[in-house]
Amino acid sequence: MTKGREYVAGVFEKVKANNAHEAEFLQAVEEVFESLVPVFDKYPKYIEENLLERLVEPERIISFRVPWVDDQGQVQVNRGYRVQFSSAIGPYKGGLRFHPSVNQSIIKFLGFEQIFKNSLTGQPIGGGKGGSNFDPKGKSDQEIMRFCQSFMTELSKHIGADTDVPAGDIGVGGREIGYLYGQYKRLRNEYTGVLTGKGLTYGGSLTRTEATGYGAVYFAEQMLKARGEDFAGKTAIVSGSGNVAIYATEKLHQLGAKVVAVSDSSGYIYDENGIDLDTLKQLKEVERARIVKYTEHHPSAVFTPAGGPSIWTIEADLAFPCATQNELNEEDAKTLAANGCIAVAEGANMPSTLEAIAVFHKEGISFGPAKAANAGGVAVSALEMAQNSQRTPWTFEEVDAKLYGIMKDIYENAAAAAQEFGQEGNLVLGANVAGFLKVAEAMSAQGVV
Ligand code: NDP
Repeated sequence: MTKGREYVAGVFEKVKANNAHEAEFLQAVEEVFESLVPVFDKYPKYIEENLLERLVEPERIISFRVPWVDDQGQVQVNRGYRVQFSSAIGPYKGGLRFHPSVNQSIIKFLGFEQIFKNSLTGQPIGGGKGGSNFDPKGKSDQEIMRFCQSFMTELSKHIGADTDVPAGDIGVGGREIGYLYGQYKRLRNEYTGVLTGKGLTYGGSLTRTEATGYGAVYFAEQMLKARGEDFAGKTAIVSGSGNVAIYATEKLHQLGAKVVAVSDSSGYIYDENGIDLDTLKQLKEVERARIVKYTEHHPSAVFTPAGGPSIWTIEADLAFPCATQNELNEEDAKTLAANGCIAVAEGANMPSTLEAIAVFHKEGISFGPAKAANAGGVAVSALEMAQNSQRTPWTFEEVDAKLYGIMKDIYENAAAAAQEFGQEGNLVLGANVAGFLKVAEAMSAQGVV
């Protein structure tokens, strides 16, 4: 056993013992740790500085009560979180998730991944994440507003434009960011870039709405290029039908691919003519309807309810999991491979299980892991912070061009790191290593803090 492996295995044992009930967090840590073994072999000083054990412990976890009153006058209580994971290279940065499944393990896995993702963007942003087990589904706008105001009343004590800058994630889109920002401004009497994903009339950046989905497609374009391929004439599956899925679909269509399936938690739609984007946006962005309603507008499309065959059983050249964690397992990965899929790019965070990723690698499917492929959202969030500080908005084309350049750089840096550490084409290893090295150097320079 090399010194690096011995060190990494020892720290992982401690992490498991200290976080025994946090399955998602341990899954994310295991994937990263495995990649870092060769780094510790090459740089033993990071073992002496016990860098990994420090990095895997969040700098701060805030957990708080969120009381609010529903439309019937009943008092409701949810739990809020903010995990401020690492400020080694910049202020904590990462989204807020409102979903009933949210717990400390999920927020910690997301915050841990965010450290490496943010480092990969080349922007000066640290890692953080937050959210609540609040379920926005079926709530009125007034209820959403009261919840957001209560959530921000506590969160505002812990964030700031130079401290911690939250954004959206599952269940937190433009509407929620607006209510959160309004309350922050009212409490603090400050007009600063304390949240990103803001509306265009009050400090938001053009292209932020599109950035994660577009970025995942730009990343996939680089993966295809490395295989001598492009999008023309290819078919694609995109899971989810939220912010990331919609704009991945839009960019895929613009670049000549055809998205034949999208989903939500109630099931998926297959449309052999290609998903109609106007219908999808109307249903999901305006009406907040269930995906089955798509068939009312396009009767030839087929709806398969959740619990039946998964969306990954559809035959397609490309797959973009853009819904949630662990939505694509080993069996799904084998089915995709058997159906001739050549590339998978993760729009969601940790949508593929570790076993599924092993299948992709074994079958020669190009695989773009989340922390590289979906970094476009946070990258444009950092550009939103820059515009807020300068008090100067940039054009859509300017931001889009910067996003494209950032995604290309992330691909090239991850591919180069994979090659340097003897695993050409392994973008999981490449992204983890490239993201880690910058953070490690910064931590090392700043002493034991
Ligand atoms: P949205 O809330 O806009 O959409 C989420 C979509 O995923 C919905 O269609 C939702 O269906 C579906 N979904 C959520 N949970 C489940 C579940 N348990 N099972 C099946 N489907 C589910 O979120 P986003 O599009 O913003 O986020 C999607 C993913 O992308 C997340 O993993 C997020 O962390 C990641 N991401 C988002 C970024 C962003 O900029 N928004 C940036 C980087 C990553 P339903 O409505 O039925 O719940």
